Amino acid sequence: ARRKLLMGNWKMYKTVAQARAFAEELGRQTSRLSPAVDYAVCPPFTALHALRVILPSCVKLGAQNVHFAEEGAYTGEIAPGMLTELGVQYVLVGHSERRNVFHEPDAWMRQKVAAVAAHGMTPVLCVGEDLAEREAGRTLAVVEAQTVSGIADVRAEQASQMVIAYEPVWAIGTGRTPTPADAQEVIAYIRQVVAREKGEAAAAGVRILYGGSVKPDNIAGFTSQPDIDGALVGGASLDPSSFVAMAEAV
Ligand code: 13P
Repeated sequence: ARRKLLMGNWKMYKTVAQARAFAEELGRQTSRLSPAVDYAVCPPFTALHALRVILPSCVKLGAQNVHFAEEGAYTGEIAPGMLTELGVQYVLVGHSERRNVFHEPDAWMRQKVAAVAAHGMTPVLCVGEDLAEREAGRTLAVVEAQTVSGIADVRAEQASQMVIAYEPVWAIGTGRTPTPADAQEVIAYIRQVVAREKGEAAAAGVRILYGGSVKPDNIAGFTSQPDIDGALVGGASLDPSSFVAMAEAV
């Protein structure tokens, strides 16, 4: 059975001092975290080092982005080996803000996913349609294309270990969400796409999360669906009490 995963994406929030305060408060509430669930937070790169030391050991570290090259003249970028050195276990790839605000091309995602996996970390490939695509009835076609290209360069065993996050762009930071049944339908479809591309074992192993306006009071509706293996949470993951409340509901 797939373990549930609750992952916080802090985006461009929290200085080192603020990240430390979060970790210290979470440390006081670890008795509320279940050993049966996986937890992670993805802080800004600048807070990774400090968090590695003080985050409760059951909460793993994630990074919000990565470059696929080993090293090179890429001003402003971070290489996979720089993340493993800091104890990073998960790496977001293709978050909609990377795709849409910073115009990262779809063609990069497969290289990032492969580089993360090759370094022994877990890629978290983000996919999702925008509002115009949804209204045009193209949701499944969009997530299919993003999934197929994102996993193109990993082997079946690597695909079975990875994470995919379904985040409809129109649900991110808006307070609007699909119904749990709608999210389940899209996520079950993504799992079928993985089965077609990488085989049944990969599809059975890959964890697929829902993300977009997840909060303590709506998370259980999503994570109780058969194909939804957890949540990727932005705003509601910034507060330790809210993180723990979601941990208890997941
Ligand atoms: P919100 O939870 O703030 O809607 O953000 C979702 C998200 O983009 C997580 O990666």
